[in-house]
Amino acid sequence: MRSPILTSALLGANFGTPAEQQHLLALEQTAREALAEKRPWLRFAPQLEWQFELDSTAERVARFRVLGLIALIILNLFNITDRTMLPDIADQALMIRLGILTPIMAVTLAALHLPFLAPRREWLISCLIAAASGSLVYFFSQSQHPNALHYHTGVILVIMFGNIVIRQRFRFALSTSVAVLALFVAGISQLQQMSQEIKLNSDMVLFAAVVISLVANYQMEYDSRQAYLHTLLQRIEALKLKRSHDELDRQANSDPLTGLANRRYFDSHLLIEWGRAQREQQAIALIYLDVDNFKAYNDHYGHQAGDECLIRVAKEIQQCVQRNGDVCARYGGEEFVILLPQTSLLSAQAMAEKVREAVQAAGLSQAYSDVSQVVTISCGVACTVPAVGDTSSRLIRQADQALYAAKSSGRNRVSSQGADTSHLTV
Ligand code: GH3
Ligand code: MG
Ligand code: MG
Repeated sequence: MRSPILTSALLGANFGTPAEQQHLLALEQTAREALAEKRPWLRFAPQLEWQFELDSTAERVARFRVLGLIALIILNLFNITDRTMLPDIADQALMIRLGILTPIMAVTLAALHLPFLAPRREWLISCLIAAASGSLVYFFSQSQHPNALHYHTGVILVIMFGNIVIRQRFRFALSTSVAVLALFVAGISQLQQMSQEIKLNSDMVLFAAVVISLVANYQMEYDSRQAYLHTLLQRIEALKLKRSHDELDRQANSDPLTGLANRRYFDSHLLIEWGRAQREQQAIALIYLDVDNFKAYNDHYGHQAGDECLIRVAKEIQQCVQRNGDVCARYGGEEFVILLPQTSLLSAQAMAEKVREAVQAAGLSQAYSDVSQVVTISCGVACTVPAVGDTSSRLIRQADQALYAAKSSGRNRVSSQGADTSHLTV
């Protein structure tokens, strides 16, 4: 069973733009297949691989930066020990580390987030690791000091750091390791004072470090890809859940014929706006509309034509009501309501008149009306500043009474109830 806390957290999650959501949903099949197949190579199908890279960018850039900074500090600490370890090249090493490696590494780490570097990010990290290893190889192969024989162990640390701590992608870890191993073997071969047996053993130790760390690197990337598939599928499930929730919500709140809000939504929205108007002592207005002689229309043109007429009237109403916060709804049958928060009686009357004219101008033939040759509506307008203890049903009742007045005084007109509140509105 789904936990309600998890469900509500997922429903509140941000799934991006509709296009991004569509893209996410399109990955489901591929992700399920990848999870089921458990293929050993570390690459998804192109679209999924792209999404994987995109989703892991922020975490990888942050990791590379923090760990890169730590590596930079450790690297420079060797400037101190070099004074006694390799005194003959200590100045040169200091210059290379502080003057070349440090600025290059610092700038690269700082720029890693830049989008144009994204396709080269792993490659750049490989280069930095190779450069750090290369510098060590260069130092011990250049030094004539007897201590140079013991300096090569540092390369093992760099390899371990790149493959296990920084966790480059496996294919980059592999190529960096091979390059460093080649550099190392070449550097060791330069050491005149080292015996062949020790050279071979040193090469062997680095080779073992490369293999061990690459095995760990492979396993970590494999696991992180599997974990990503699980997370991605969870996200997709959550998105589907949210979408069906939104769809149910939409269905529950809208009128299937006209697409306008339904009475259920209107009632709950009215309560909210009424409460706000009461608290802030703002005017709130309601227009109650009813199609004139609609029974006759239905009787003569048929129910289907009647439905189409209602759809058109709803469209006209919707087009007139554009302000954010205003709500138009089908209240029932051929009756509609428009709720206008923070609106004076005069403005609501003007809005009602605009809607009435728009419906008339739509020119839907109505040969059986006693007021016009086209479909018309009558509007009742009510406006009030709710007093404490006042209920919203009074506003509806007043609008209904105004509508009744519009009907009795000849239809196709606007009648209103309530005081002019224009001084209270914004
Ligand atoms: P008045 O000008 O006084 O409003 O007269 P009227 O004929 O419009 O009012 P009345 O209440 O007598 O008739 C309303 C008609 O609306 C009756 C009903 O058949 C029709 N109606 C209600 N809902 C729908 C609907 O969803 N589709 C269609 N086609 N007709 C509907
Ligand atoms: Mg009616
Ligand atoms: Mg009617």
